Amino acid sequence: MSELPKSPVTLGELAKLLMSLDDLLITCMRCGFCQSVCPVYGATFREADVTRGKIALLDDLAHELTLDAKNVDDRLNRCLLCGSCETNCPSGVKIMDIFLKARAIVTGYRGLGAIKKLVFRFVLPRPRLFNFMIGISGVFQTPFLRRASEKVGTSRAPILTPFLGNRHIPSLPSQTFSSSHGKIDELGPNGRVALFPGCVPDKIFNKMSEACLKILRHHQVGVFMPPDLVCCGIPALASGDIKGFDQLVVQNLASLIKGKFNYLVTPCATCASNIKENWYRFIDHFNPGERAQIQDLHTKTMDITAFLVRVLKVDFKPASGGTQTVTYHDSCHLKKGLGIGAEPRMILKSLLGYNYREMPDADRCCGNGGSFNLYHYGLSKDIGQVKRDNIVSVSPKVVATGCPACVLQLMDLLSQNRDEIEVRHVVELYADSL
Ligand code: SF4
Ligand code: SF4
Repeated sequence: MSELPKSPVTLGELAKLLMSLDDLLITCMRCGFCQSVCPVYGATFREADVTRGKIALLDDLAHELTLDAKNVDDRLNRCLLCGSCETNCPSGVKIMDIFLKARAIVTGYRGLGAIKKLVFRFVLPRPRLFNFMIGISGVFQTPFLRRASEKVGTSRAPILTPFLGNRHIPSLPSQTFSSSHGKIDELGPNGRVALFPGCVPDKIFNKMSEACLKILRHHQVGVFMPPDLVCCGIPALASGDIKGFDQLVVQNLASLIKGKFNYLVTPCATCASNIKENWYRFIDHFNPGERAQIQDLHTKTMDITAFLVRVLKVDFKPASGGTQTVTYHDSCHLKKGLGIGAEPRMILKSLLGYNYREMPDADRCCGNGGSFNLYHYGLSKDIGQVKRDNIVSVSPKVVATGCPACVLQLMDLLSQNRDEIEVRHVVELYADSL
């Protein structure tokens, strides 16, 4: 659990935070083992980009902030929060704790930018407004899009170049999953789950959420989805906006408490990892009732593929004779964050018509990193190019993964390289087979 105050804006609070950061930093032995696994360092070979370099910066954070706070912010944000360093650190340094805490200190010191404040504290907490904005964009987007790749399903948006650069993007649905279903409140003989779609599977890849619903109904699992779920809060937390993060967590807790369920499942690896680990990491921010809920969700939250295999014990027998190659990319939040890698592979290997081939370094980060892709697109693409080459090396028809943020990145990478490869979430392929 973290000692992060709710919103570190006073000097006293910042000083307390800085002291608690020192306790975490002292465990780093400066061995440099993190170098070999850091995707950012692998692309830049700059010591400042790897964990050890960032820890050296944080060692004298108060001084560095007074010298050049923007530089500190920029250096800290050259990180995907992929967790590769923490997973491989021989000293068990709590690197994600350090980075999230440091980002909160820097944002507390510098203040939150106007656009982030608008998004995190005004749009994300208002699901009807957010759905309306997506719906309007989905209806009127066609004249502004130029098809980039039929196979990958991407377009370019020249008019949005100032914001999106030359990214190849998927088109938006005219209705989000949550607005087309409203509240879902179903019973089933095989238990009951809360379905947490997450922003991207709800508002961009709504077919992922539809696939989850189809799968759960097929297996006769009751589904509860309150109509007013909001973002899990990870964009705010990663930007150091503790106030925005807390607000979103509280709203979700208030929605989820309205129904009974045995597990919370999601097709979004980032949401699963954030709800399970980060909500719990910052449990001290919340009132006793909310803490009890967070504690409960810490044990109940599961990625949907793990739920199918571990809880429902679906018998995914390996299929044979398939002719279309499918490969799998491990999302960092799923593999390094939650230790889930075998389950999605079991599902893929059971699909009739497909032949599973493992790509090299399947758990190597794709370079998306959420806001990292927004602010460091060139670097994100450089990191992703290695992933693209690894995918292409096994000549798949489809690359599957378990995180919608990775899907966005893989679609862009493959489309930009003119590769004729589909990108699908594991649940979409499974739902197609039912
Ligand atoms: S963070 Fe871990 S792996 Fe990296 S230098 Fe410190 S002790 Fe070594
Ligand atoms: S979280 Fe990932 S990108 Fe950030 S320092 Fe660690 S290995 Fe590098």
